[in-house]
Amino acid sequence: MAITKKQKSEQILAGVPASPGIIMGRVFLLSGDVVKVAPRALQESEILEEVEKFRAAVAKAKQDIQKLREKAANSLGEESAQIFEAHQLMLEDDLIIDETVRRIQTEKINADLAFFEIMEKFETSIANFQDEHFKSRAIDLRDVKRRVIHNIQGDFIYLLKIQEPAIIVARELTPSDTVNLDRDKVLGFATDFGGSTSHVAIMARSMKVPSVVGLLQACQSIQTGDWIILDGNEGTLVVHPTPETTQKYQQRLDLFHTFERKLDKIKKLPARTKDGKDIELSANIEFEREAANVREMGGDGVGLYRTEYHYLARQKLPGENELFNEYARTVKALKGKPIIFRTADLGGDKLPRSIEMPPEENPFLGMRAIRLFRNQNQDIFKTQLRAIVRASAFGRVRILFPMISCVSEIRYCQNLLKETKEELKQEGVSFSKDIPVGAMIEVPSSAVIADLIAEECDFLSIGTNDLIQYSLAVDRGNEHVAYLYNPFNPAILRMIRDIIHKGHQKGVWVGMCGEMASDPLSTMLLIGMSLDEFSVSLVSLLLIKAIIRRVDYSECENLAQKALNFTTTRDVDKYLRSVFSKKFRDIRF
Ligand code: PEP
Ligand code: MG
Repeated sequence: MAITKKQKSEQILAGVPASPGIIMGRVFLLSGDVVKVAPRALQESEILEEVEKFRAAVAKAKQDIQKLREKAANSLGEESAQIFEAHQLMLEDDLIIDETVRRIQTEKINADLAFFEIMEKFETSIANFQDEHFKSRAIDLRDVKRRVIHNIQGDFIYLLKIQEPAIIVARELTPSDTVNLDRDKVLGFATDFGGSTSHVAIMARSMKVPSVVGLLQACQSIQTGDWIILDGNEGTLVVHPTPETTQKYQQRLDLFHTFERKLDKIKKLPARTKDGKDIELSANIEFEREAANVREMGGDGVGLYRTEYHYLARQKLPGENELFNEYARTVKALKGKPIIFRTADLGGDKLPRSIEMPPEENPFLGMRAIRLFRNQNQDIFKTQLRAIVRASAFGRVRILFPMISCVSEIRYCQNLLKETKEELKQEGVSFSKDIPVGAMIEVPSSAVIADLIAEECDFLSIGTNDLIQYSLAVDRGNEHVAYLYNPFNPAILRMIRDIIHKGHQKGVWVGMCGEMASDPLSTMLLIGMSLDEFSVSLVSLLLIKAIIRRVDYSECENLAQKALNFTTTRDVDKYLRSVFSKKFRDIRF
């Protein structure tokens, strides 16, 4: 995205809007410099794995450096690219690599500690050189050290240094980083990487923190302490705003608040079209405390409880009782409204520290969700199922299995659930007899056989965030291909139409919990395709309800028919925008 200098001190950076709201404040820049290692004694049986982990971290660092080298050569010239050659050479240096491996093996210490100490020793000796050229190599050593250690530790950044409320600016925030943030200290997020459906964006919406992602170069242009305006509606940052700009944003903020107050009036009214079609309008939540907000906002229930954050926020695996207590409190907070527990969708970019993950070339195509548990960690899955089933005694619990890609996976889940219930019954534990089970349709293979999957369960929920990335071969978190990531691609529209149709043919209801359901431009389209349930981010719930209440089902059907006839994403988008702007002149989002 372009950087345009308005005047000497004011800079406007354009990115992708990720979470709505406008905020002004000081920056806390996460430069990624924080490297922390803690000693860990290894068992004999862990040594081989630790050495492999180290070698994989080095290999990944080399690959990343090679990419940077090519990028630097293209944009800055060969001379600048040579710096990366020096980094690569360090990772081939026997003194560094072999010595690290030797220390892991003989001293039985963790890889990050062994590598850290060796690099520190080099840094100290280089700092004592008289020659400035040699001295400057210490920077390279630090860079390489940080890169490899972050690879070993899974890029976990410690964010405990934030003392005052601030807007966090970072290259990238992983879900673990985000979940560990102190909500009271975070006014907003701005990241160089990421798209609008990356997990950090979803979490930001959940945390009601205005955010912008995909800024590409914010970290280079911003310092800790800079005063900025973050506009999560438009996807922009203004660095060192002038008084005129500040005033302009203050007016926008006032308008935004006025619109929010207007929406408050429909909280208690049903999500019903003008011609009387009721739509189930639920919310996506990530944290227990949000359950109460769902009722407060007039949501029909929780359509997606992403349960993986219990695993990401903790160093150790959560036990059954710990999960059960949390789940039971969440169910009770809903006071009879239904809640869909999505079982832990770990893997991909959600890497828990408590589960040993294999090094993977393509984690989004690997040990994610059910696959992480099916062959080796079934006990972790079972523990979670036990906790959910036990919590069903306190309300209307539904279970949703993520990343189902074939019939055998949903059967495996159903069997394990059956086994879990039988065990609990034997133990005399009470639970609800009626726990509807659903499958997420977010992999193209399951979209094609949605009818067969539907025969195995009680409902389907379309996960457009992944469905789009897997169908269009576009990484949902990659800002470089974000222009291709679009729910209005005709291939995606046909898939959604077909999934809903196939589900209905088999007599099950079909919902959508992907972010497309929260997009006001999609609401009429999805109603027209006869989607039964919308599960949306809490910040969008009232806006979507307002739209539902102002349309006729029949006009939505016509709109969907028309939209499905266009051949390009651009045409669909243009059409939906033109209808929207005529029909809802007062709505800005
Ligand atoms: C989805 O993929 O659309 C979804 C709701 O799941 P997640 O965003 O957690 O992958
Ligand atoms: Mg998904």
